[in-house]
Amino acid sequence: MQSNLDNLGAVRVVARTPRSLAPILDAGATQTLRRLLHDTFASFFTKFLPDSPGGPKKYAHEVASLLHLYFTLVSLAKDGGTIGESLYWIARDNLVKPGQSQSLGDPEARRRFRRCVWAAAVHVAGPYLDARLAELRDVAEEELNVRRQVRAMEAEGSRQSPPRAMSGYTSPASVAGYEYSLPLSSDRIKELGLAAFVAIHPYAKLALGLRDVAARVAFSAGLSRASTLEHLLTGSRVRRLTGREAEGLRSDREARRSRALMEASSRGGGWPSWIKTKALRAKHLSEDWNKALLALVAVGCKGLEWWYSSGEEASKESRAEALDLPAPPRPSTERRLPKSSRLCPICRREKKDPAVLTASGFVFCYACVMSHVKDSGTCPVTDAPASEAHVRRLYFTS
Ligand SMILES: [Zn+2]
Repeated sequence: MQSNLDNLGAVRVVARTPRSLAPILDAGATQTLRRLLHDTFASFFTKFLPDSPGGPKKYAHEVASLLHLYFTLVSLAKDGGTIGESLYWIARDNLVKPGQSQSLGDPEARRRFRRCVWAAAVHVAGPYLDARLAELRDVAEEELNVRRQVRAMEAEGSRQSPPRAMSGYTSPASVAGYEYSLPLSSDRIKELGLAAFVAIHPYAKLALGLRDVAARVAFSAGLSRASTLEHLLTGSRVRRLTGREAEGLRSDREARRSRALMEASSRGGGWPSWIKTKALRAKHLSEDWNKALLALVAVGCKGLEWWYSSGEEASKESRAEALDLPAPPRPSTERRLPKSSRLCPICRREKKDPAVLTASGFVFCYACVMSHVKDSGTCPVTDAPASEAHVRRLYFTS
């Protein structure tokens, strides 16, 4: 039984384009599709994996990659190409050898399977690394921003000493255990590394993209062996199969399958061979319906995500309507607050163990605000009366 998606009319139209253009066509399909699949799965798992500290949500990209790996591996093992490639009847020469129908115990079949695993791993690693590096870049940029703000704040503070906002305080430096000294040299090196990474990342991405375009053009002109970095790493050339080759592959597969089924049912008999036969049939079915199953899973992920997020929106709206309360105004203050909300108004560093003073609603480092209310019994920003009982640690869920 063949899956219906293998025989879509639209695919036939694409398949009638000149064979030499196959790698160019494939450029769009494979690259876009693998990115799309990874993003779909990753955003699904980011939303639905349980969110305990150090829990599975942290590994959403890894779990998404495993699912992507499964579908890619099945496609490579069955059609000799990734999902995008096989849509265009494009196959990799080191995975497809029409006329050779090996059985499973065959050493050549095992070598072929290992090549499939490697090809699938390389294919899935692309969007995975891309997504992880983009996240790392965001974190690095944020870190650099905070460092810049802290430095600007320190420069300002040293110009107007003692700062008005700080007069009457316990020295913020002693409160938080910080010292107003220049960053350590190892810290400086880390910062330079972050800055270099943030600066280089977009150019490296662009260079890789241009390299792939150039490689595809060279490949189509017969000047290069591999059409992309992915194919270079897996040592495979792509080419579009002729109708006869595709038919040959299909009949080889059928022969291999019925031989495997016969072996399974003839060996021993009884329930072990019954289970083995059923498992083989399930395997063949999942191979044949791989694309349909993938489409179902991807659409299911998107659908569930949409369903839950629209439900959340609705309940948020109805809660807001039920309350019908405008947010209370921010307490007025004449004190100078740090420019970034990430900085503590007392020590003017990034907040450590953020804590809210419920008497005023301002957020500080836990140690800073505790020490301040103990000494003065007021909010450091608004001077509202406050005690240690007004301090609450804040816990963020991500
Ligand atoms: Zn602080």
